[in-house]
Amino acid sequence: MNDDCLFCKIAAHHVPATIVRDDGDVLAIRDINPQAPTHILVLPREHVESAAHLTAEHERLWGRILTVAQEIARDEGIEAAGYRLVSNVGRAGGQTVAHLHVHLLGGRQMTWPPG
Ligand code: AMP
Ligand code: ZN
Repeated sequence: MNDDCLFCKIAAHHVPATIVRDDGDVLAIRDINPQAPTHILVLPREHVESAAHLTAEHERLWGRILTVAQEIARDEGIEAAGYRLVSNVGRAGGQTVAHLHVHLLGGRQMTWPPG
């Protein structure tokens, strides 16, 4: 756990959040500032800064994150219509919380390109 990291604090239940899934290794929380009717963040409990910091040792964890995202999309009822998974990396990528997370966005028509 990184004591300065918001998502580590949420994973440790030191900061409140709406947790929709916690399987020990992977956590899913509702985004505090939703950009779509469904906006959930899927993240590892382990502090990994971003997708750029994943190593070969994280391959299973990364796969698990995507599986959880897929399952939640099903639970949220957005699977059939489609949805977006995105992970911002670094400053120019638009990352504001330096703990790896995948945004699951759905419930409306997404546009491309993103801002
Ligand atoms: P990113 O900008 O890709 O790093 O995404 C960070 C996301 O975390 C943003 O969509 C924020 O709205 C969201 N966020 C920030 N603080 C919280 C919080 N306390 N609980 C839930 N989501 C948060
Ligand atoms: Zn962290």
